[in-house]
Amino acid sequence: MSETTTIVCVVCPVSCAVQVEFEGNGIIRTDHNQCKLALEYVNDELFDPRRTLTTSLAVDGGAKPLVSVKTDHGIPKHRVMEAMQSLSGLHVQAPVHIGDVIVPNLIGTGADLVATRNVAAA
Ligand code: SF4
Repeated sequence: MSETTTIVCVVCPVSCAVQVEFEGNGIIRTDHNQCKLALEYVNDELFDPRRTLTTSLAVDGGAKPLVSVKTDHGIPKHRVMEAMQSLSGLHVQAPVHIGDVIVPNLIGTGADLVATRNVAAA
């Protein structure tokens, strides 16, 4: 038996509220999307939702106390809290450069956690 739900497409600023009818792991039809770009987004949101994790970590010996970091691609949404917990108490040694891999293969997701700002040594 099919189900329906509404997912806001965030692929562009129009933010269409896409009505989706689906069954099992397949989309039957969509409505209220202004273009086809919504189809891949809606499919991912329904069956494999992912999020880019962004946070800050403490820096030891740096000119600034924190460095911002993010995953280099989305990780499964249901594992974001587990990933955040794995970073609890983690300190990074200065200097840090944008793009430095801070944690490779974060909790086995295949995503690397990378620095998004420079922090010079103090
Ligand atoms: S469906 Fe198309 S127009 Fe609407 S938000 Fe998504 S990308 Fe933009």
